[in-house]
Amino acid sequence: MNDTNFPDTMQSRHSRTDIPAHWPERTLVTGMDSYYLTKSWKGKRQYVVQRDGGWCRYCGGRGVQADHVVPRMRGGSDKVKNLVCSCPTCNRIAGNRVFRSIEQKRAYIRRQLGMDTT
Ligand SMILES: [Zn+2]
Repeated sequence: MNDTNFPDTMQSRHSRTDIPAHWPERTLVTGMDSYYLTKSWKGKRQYVVQRDGGWCRYCGGRGVQADHVVPRMRGGSDKVKNLVCSCPTCNRIAGNRVFRSIEQKRAYIRRQLGMDTT
């Protein structure tokens, strides 16, 4: 097991010799929260992405991140039941907004993306 499998930093882009093919060129963590640099988080993120088949639960695109349905900055749990596979775009759109359910969150994001406009 080797941390370079899960690039989190700009620097890692220059030493990506054994990144699995399904990981993107850049897997950047946008938050300032150092939790996202821990082994614990990396393991959960890998689990959630695999559990959800690598598809973003919001837009249906390719997902490479794990998103807190309830943001951890708002008291959301770090348990995997509060995590879903997400693409960087949806993760960014959601930000630290709080929704009553994942369905509401998905609807909000899809509206922002211009999907489901009816
Ligand atoms: Zn998405």
